[in-house]
Amino acid sequence: MSENGDFIIKINDISKDYGKFRALESMSFTVPRGSIYGLVGRNGAGKTTIMRIISGLQSPTKGTVEYGFDNKKLGNVGALVELPSIYSNYSAKDNLIFQYINLGLKIDGSLDENLRFVGLGNTGSKRAGKFSLGMRQRLGIAMAMCGNPEVLILDEPINGLDPQGIIQIRDLLIKLNKEKGITIIISSHILSELSKLATDFAFIEAGKVIKEIKAEELENVGGLVTEFYTGTPEQLIPVLNAKGLKATFDPESRVVTAKGYYNLTNIVTAASEAGVNIARVVTRETDLETYFVKLVGGESNA
Ligand code: ATP
Repeated sequence: MSENGDFIIKINDISKDYGKFRALESMSFTVPRGSIYGLVGRNGAGKTTIMRIISGLQSPTKGTVEYGFDNKKLGNVGALVELPSIYSNYSAKDNLIFQYINLGLKIDGSLDENLRFVGLGNTGSKRAGKFSLGMRQRLGIAMAMCGNPEVLILDEPINGLDPQGIIQIRDLLIKLNKEKGITIIISSHILSELSKLATDFAFIEAGKVIKEIKAEELENVGGLVTEFYTGTPEQLIPVLNAKGLKATFDPESRVVTAKGYYNLTNIVTAASEAGVNIARVVTRETDLETYFVKLVGGESNA
């Protein structure tokens, strides 16, 4: 445990220069143990660079990475940071055998179990070159999983996948996190997808972390918010609550605010039956992407 809680990785003030170009600028963030930590940012923001540094594939110009586990043990950091290095002429099982040999692992029943876990248990002698992109990504994840890593680092694993492939990867990552307790650091520019699985987020822009936020806090940022204007706000609140909406009343503005989605006709009818007249309704919707664009103060290409 550290003074900041149980972290698995802590990025301390990291900068990275490529010649005169500064790709990362005093970047700091903390990945809690057991989390699915999402790195969100536009192309070129610095996600791949920091993931390569965490994986030990690159050194920072300045700053340190602190590991809350033995990062020197081979296979303890599972990474899929570029395209997975898969031998196209070999089957999924052969590829895993090579990986076991690379890591000096004993080839035992865990190999088939790894294949089954990622949903490639039935691919037999089919060559990996004939796999769909989603299958290749899942094979890459199985390879990164061979050393039973403490942390799995995945750079844009859903990039280019079809909707079904995206769901399969998402479900697999949630299963790895929940059943095997693996901390996952994942980057994506598809914000809405990341928001379906990440427990924590770091928003990255121009080599800096501009915001770290927990999923619960994001829930309060996103979604539909409605302001109800009525002469009898105290009576409206129980009507909204009965419809499953969380409502609050601001005595100063005399506006009732509710969060969540609803059927307006049902609300107006229920209010009317309770003797409440709704004079006006104002809605606004904020999603993760809008939030991010506001944070960086411009248009997002995400
Ligand atoms: P993408 O999703 O496009 O890869 P990213 O957020 O992962 O975006 P990085 O790949 O980390 O971004 O790149 C961060 C910045 O560093 C970019 O401006 C990129 O052009 C630059 N960069 C990355 N690698 C190198 C390199 N080897 N030499 C010079 N510049 C580099």
